Formats: sequence, C-alpha cells, structure tokens
Amino acid sequence: MLITHTHTDHFVPEELALRSRVFAHIYDDKPLMTVYGNECAGELLKGKTGEWLAYSRLHAFETVDIEGYSVTPLEAVHNGSGDLSTHQVLHEGKPFGRFEEAFVYYIEKDGKALLYAHDTDRLTPPDMEFLKGRRLSLVSLDCTNGILDVNYIGHMGAKDNLVMRERLIQNGSADENTVFVANHFSHNGFPGEEELQAALPGFIIAKDGLEIEF
Ligand SMILES: [Zn+2]
Ligand SMILES: [Zn+2]
Repeated sequence: MLITHTHTDHFVPEELALRSRVFAHIYDDKPLMTVYGNECAGELLKGKTGEWLAYSRLHAFETVDIEGYSVTPLEAVHNGSGDLSTHQVLHEGKPFGRFEEAFVYYIEKDGKALLYAHDTDRLTPPDMEFLKGRRLSLVSLDCTNGILDVNYIGHMGAKDNLVMRERLIQNGSADENTVFVANHFSHNGFPGEEELQAALPGFIIAKDGLEIEF
C-alpha cells in the first residue's frame, strides 16, 4: 500500500484494523501487507504494525523495489510540502492543517511508467528534472479545483492539468501516446463530467471503478 500523505481522504489507519486476523483471516504463509509512506504515516501506525501489518518509510527521490515495481516518491506541492519558501499554505491568514511531506509517485514496470500525481499543485523543478528523459505511459493528475479559476496552492484544476501536460511534453516525459487522466475531484469544483471533459480535451475523466489498460 502506497500512501501519499495522511489526510483523511487518503489514510485512516483505523480502517487497517480490518486486515487483522480476527477480520481478514490472514494465514501464516501470507506475507504482511506493507504500508509505504512518509514519516507521519509511520507515526499514525505506531502500535498497529507487527503481526499483520508492516511499515516502510519512503524518502523523496529514493527509488525502492516493491514486488517487482520500481517506485520513486517525488515531492508533492501540498499542504506545505514542495518548496516551502514559496508555497506557504494559509487558510484565511492562518496556517491550515498539518505540515507534512507529501508524495506523488513515479512507478515503473516492464518498460511502462505511471505518474500518480494527486494532492499536488504543479510539479516542482526537481520533480521535472527527475522525469526528464523518462517516458510516461500514463499520467493521473489532481483536478480538485475542476473548472474553478482559483489561486489555491496544493491542488490543481483543469487549467493546471493542461499546463502540466504541456510541460511534461516539453520535458520529453510525455508524448501523443501518453494517457492523461484527470482525477481527485471535489464537489466544490466538479462541474459534471461533460463540462470537465470539454475543458480537458484528450483527458480521461476518472470515475469510481475506472480501469485503464496502458
Ligand atoms: Zn491532501
Ligand atoms: Zn486528497
């Protein structure tokens, strides 16, 4: 299980209790499920790991091999992560939420590569540098703001998604064969599938249960 950060729309450790033996009937010959994530994820898992759950700390730009997948956490621009000198996150003038390092993921297997970039603003220069020369097969981008024209740091909207697609193409990381997906919507910014599709030509608009072969 790869965790990007510990906001409750992504990580509620109490729910992992359903992996415990009494509920999940996990037998001795099955490997433990490992939760990979940032330091905060590890803190929230204190006392829960051991018999039926493991935790492994990840660090940005350090690639790990996970069951045949090459996984690299990149830095997200979300809730104070990314470039702290310019991405101070405030809500109505006050610091908002927990400051923690958040990740997006670059995942490679069998010559195919996925960029899973939710809960982030436009990617940072170090992220783009890492992606230089790597060819992405599928890119899933945060589109929380939908078609709202808001200057909100930490998420993206349709306009940002178009900018990111252009930047990734210019970076040599994407081309006409790369599948782009808009994902992670909020009811505040989601105008409905048709309108969002019109704002994002060529993108797949994600929905529950969507499966993509690439
Ligand atoms: Zn978040
Ligand atoms: Zn989220």
